[in-house]
Amino acid sequence: MAKYTPMMEQYMKIKAEHKDAFLFYRLGDFYEMFFDDAIKASRELEITLTQRDPGQKEPIPMCGVPYHAADNYIRILIDKGYKVAMCEQVEDPKTAKGVVKREVVQLITPGTVMESNMLREGENNYIASLSHFKDGSYVIVYNDLSTGENRIALLSHGWDTVIHELYNQPIKEIVVSSSLPEDLQRQLRDRLHVTLSYQDEVNFNAEYRNLCENLNDERLMKSFSRLLNYIQFTQKRSLNHLQQAEVIELDHYLSLDMYSKRNLELTETILKKGKHGSLLWVLDKTVTAMGSRMLKKWLERPLLNKQHIEKRLQIVDGFYSGFMERDTLRETLKSVYDLERLAGRIAFGNVNARDLNQLKQSLEKIPELIETLKQFEQEQIKELADRLLYPKHLIDILHSSLVDDPPVSIKEGSIIKDGYNETLDNYRDASRNGKKWIAELEQKEKQETKIKSLKIGYNRVFGYYIEVTKANIHLLPEGRYERKQTLANAERYITPELKEKEQLILEAEEKSVELEYTLFIQIREQIKEHIPQLQHLAEVVSTIDVLQAFATVSETNNYKRPRFAENKLSIKNGRHPVIEQVMKDGSFVPNDISLDDNKNILLITGPNMSGKSTYMRQLALTVIMGQIGCFVPCEDAELMLFDQIFTRIGAADDLVSGQSTFMVEMLEANHAISNATNKSLILLDEIGRGTSTYDGMALAQAIVEYIHNNIQAKTLFSTHYHELTALEETLPNLKNIHVRAEEYEGNVVFLHQIKDGAADESYGIHVAKLADLPEALIERASSILSQLESTDKPAPTTEKIEAGQLSFFVEEKLTAKKEKVSVSHNKVINELKQLNLFEMTPLEAMNELYKLQKDAKK
Ligand code: ADP
Ligand code: MG
Repeated sequence: MAKYTPMMEQYMKIKAEHKDAFLFYRLGDFYEMFFDDAIKASRELEITLTQRDPGQKEPIPMCGVPYHAADNYIRILIDKGYKVAMCEQVEDPKTAKGVVKREVVQLITPGTVMESNMLREGENNYIASLSHFKDGSYVIVYNDLSTGENRIALLSHGWDTVIHELYNQPIKEIVVSSSLPEDLQRQLRDRLHVTLSYQDEVNFNAEYRNLCENLNDERLMKSFSRLLNYIQFTQKRSLNHLQQAEVIELDHYLSLDMYSKRNLELTETILKKGKHGSLLWVLDKTVTAMGSRMLKKWLERPLLNKQHIEKRLQIVDGFYSGFMERDTLRETLKSVYDLERLAGRIAFGNVNARDLNQLKQSLEKIPELIETLKQFEQEQIKELADRLLYPKHLIDILHSSLVDDPPVSIKEGSIIKDGYNETLDNYRDASRNGKKWIAELEQKEKQETKIKSLKIGYNRVFGYYIEVTKANIHLLPEGRYERKQTLANAERYITPELKEKEQLILEAEEKSVELEYTLFIQIREQIKEHIPQLQHLAEVVSTIDVLQAFATVSETNNYKRPRFAENKLSIKNGRHPVIEQVMKDGSFVPNDISLDDNKNILLITGPNMSGKSTYMRQLALTVIMGQIGCFVPCEDAELMLFDQIFTRIGAADDLVSGQSTFMVEMLEANHAISNATNKSLILLDEIGRGTSTYDGMALAQAIVEYIHNNIQAKTLFSTHYHELTALEETLPNLKNIHVRAEEYEGNVVFLHQIKDGAADESYGIHVAKLADLPEALIERASSILSQLESTDKPAPTTEKIEAGQLSFFVEEKLTAKKEKVSVSHNKVINELKQLNLFEMTPLEAMNELYKLQKDAKK
């Protein structure tokens, strides 16, 4: 083995324990990285790669960042999913013998960042742990280290449900056992884009006993321990803001599979991946970051329990009608800071006096909040007020101790109020008196020496001095002062008395700065004791904020309070909450919908771009809004409580998993069919599109029949296969509806109105016209179409079509037609082959023959 210097030996030893992290190795004012870390970091951080001579032939690649600017570099690495191990000097270099002792004091990982500049305000930052058990069950634990939240869910229906559950949550990192099968690990990485970390130790750390008192299942305990042990390993300190684990009973919530979460664009849009254009974007009228985070959680887990929903609606109703009071409420809420994250940072130990002042200001708002809430009529709102406990004790501590406008640093004094601590007051008196004495001395010396420009100054090197300009030196009596320093045009002097006072002042100042720091830490520790109370307050304040947001958005956008019925649903003049906002001009066309046990499947036909998909999503979004306790976009709504929503919407490729559109389509359909109940809502939008016409149509029909006969879920099924509208005759619970479009002077006009019955025409060419395809091309397509419609022969293909790639479009239609011809012939022959003539009466044979001939003529 190559021989390295003792320091490099130390580096190698520490690095060996942190192979999967960048090791930020503290050397003086820099964090240095070596070897592969250095090469990779120089690329990722765009910093210069240098070399360090280790005392052998091969120099060591090296790069570094200044310690005071390290935060930014760390953030870049964390954002890219890396981990950073902070390795500090843990003894004083001046007194160290040999190489200064160094240790990793914190491992910063994407899921465990605490620094506010690395977190998004209105968004949680989860680290999760996932554990698998021999009985086939999985346990997921969510933790947000910045807020202390812990939630835990047991999933006993296989791996798929794990992916559906984890999908679309703001999870940055998942801690798993190294024995989790490799292909499952890969799925987590590829489909969820998270950093995977490993922790095999699942024994419970007694320090955290109080966090799991409510867990009575060993599997939950193990998975929770996995996460807590990992947090302990990375943070290397005990964190007393971690909250008791809340068990999520998944069957208490409306479940949305990952396809619905994505397709319905609840919290982010598919294409831009941003909040703008999502349902969250419309509904988020919260005024605090805590409220915004809670709203997102509610959206992802709508309720199932009618009483709980009604309770929320009742409060929203109250906030809705008391708009003056609501305004006051919103104003008050605006001055409440992020209590949840403040609590987290207090526990973590990285708050300054300004943060604590924010805490004080926020807490001082509580009485005002209570006051405002009590003005509303609703009992439920008054109850909310009762849950807000005024933390007088905390406010007293903060009020008596901290000055109003403290500096950022907690190590330079000027943060503690006079009168808070006697010793500190004494130091301050000493320093103030000393300074006063010096000011008086200056006056006295001026008078006695008659040198008006004489002054007493201070600098760090010489301390206090008396300064006399060269022009006035002749006025000084010999030996009055002791000369200390000569400048170009002045002399500086001291006296023993001056130095004595200086000593007193400096000592007092130094001591008072030290004492202020100690006192600040004490105050912080005192506040720490009250973290659970802060977290409780945060929870109530967030709830109030979300519910007032519902009232505000309901009023602004004219939503109505829904009622709930059993197994039927009827909405009058419903609207799509997002599209209506995007259109802004009020031109969105409202539509009715009704579903009940007799008619639980709606088969929707209509031309492209007429509004089929919009209509379907509109229903799902309305259902979700109702079940989170918000009013809904319509004139009147009677909803039912759905247990699950399944969707298959749009033709967007599943880029994430790299599967083909058709495969995804079938997976989504299968997921719906195998999990839906008669209390579920299924949206199937143009299913079967991804394969050849007959193949697709056959599948689509079979799927509808299956749902109709075996599941009886409420289902919206849009299709471009007009043939399917015939199902209305054979499936009693299916009803045809269509989106109306009219032809006006050769153009198609979309009215976006839903009507009973099937649509009669396909308006594809008109849509192409709307899209401004060349006129010659449109004419050509029209003539091909009429030929196709009048004869069964393929249209001549000799005519040259200008734009190369467009010929594909026409050819596709032709092949489809050809395919149709040969398929129908094959069908006749197949059926003929299968006839069992010996078991037929002559009349039956005659009937069959008649049918075959009819088919053959098609
Ligand atoms: P389809 O699924 O039938 O092809 P979409 O639902 O995608 O049609 O709707 C196409 C466009 O028509 C939407 O982007 C929207 O701008 C508009 N649209 C749909 N429904 C309505 C409506 N009810 N009122 C106004 N515009 C609508
Ligand atoms: Mg569509």
